[in-house]
Amino acid sequence: MSLLEIENATLRFGGLVAVDNVSLQVNQGEVFALVGPNGAGKSTVFNLISRFYDPAEGSIRFDGKDLLKHTADQVPGFGIARTFQNIELFEQATVLQNLLVGRHRHCTTGLLSNIVFSPKTYREELRHRAAVEEVIDFLNLQAYRDKMIGGLPYGVRKVVELGRALASEPKLLLLDEPASGLSVEETQDMAFWIEDIQTQMGISVIMVEHDMGLVSSVSGRVMALADGKELATGTAAEVQSHPAVIEAYLGTGEISKTGTSRA
Ligand code: ADP
Ligand code: MG
Repeated sequence: MSLLEIENATLRFGGLVAVDNVSLQVNQGEVFALVGPNGAGKSTVFNLISRFYDPAEGSIRFDGKDLLKHTADQVPGFGIARTFQNIELFEQATVLQNLLVGRHRHCTTGLLSNIVFSPKTYREELRHRAAVEEVIDFLNLQAYRDKMIGGLPYGVRKVVELGRALASEPKLLLLDEPASGLSVEETQDMAFWIEDIQTQMGISVIMVEHDMGLVSSVSGRVMALADGKELATGTAAEVQSHPAVIEAYLGTGEISKTGTSRA
């Protein structure tokens, strides 16, 4: 059984069909990429999975659950974490504090026991700190752990956002343009991390990305979308050479074939 199953999902914004009858399945342990020109509907697919929007038609199942029966605030608790196209972090907090926010879904002690500092709260606090320290080590964030987000370079913020998602120990990670704005070296690091997230942590990933070098190096299957519709699904090479995909990108200059490659 697939971890995530979207069937015939459609979402309209007024007259605009942002997601048009899209079906996709993501298997346990797979890195699945969504590509397509700007406005294709890629982020909207993430917003459907996150339950920010209700599809007009279709179904979304995750890990045996009907997601449409649940609300956006329940989604992280099921094991779905995400990063955003425009980084969303707490600017006036440290890296460590932002990563601890990622642990929220694992907090079992309520407000009262946080005030009356109980042994359970203490044990839980230690557990969260240990999980976050692991993420800091994994992503090489040691030098930044006590720094305010507001003062950090863009590339480091991108990594912190990935870290916050990882700190929640998700089953499925949604990465919205993880390499956008990154240098060649930073993109290479991102490729290594995504590969380790898949192979060492066993986390499934859906990645929206324009850098076809990164897409080719880490993804198993790739789906191309344009105007909300599926154009093609297959390996990165199959999708890139598909006539409908070439046509959709003609003149946009958006597709990058010169990105990093691990080969
Ligand atoms: P992509 O991520 O592939 O670049 P999006 O999923 O962000 O594209 O957007 C798909 C289409 O839906 C675009 O035409 C966009 O303008 C439109 N859209 C996205 N979100 C909204 C919204 N909240 N309200 C109205 N239109 C939206
Ligand atoms: Mg987008």
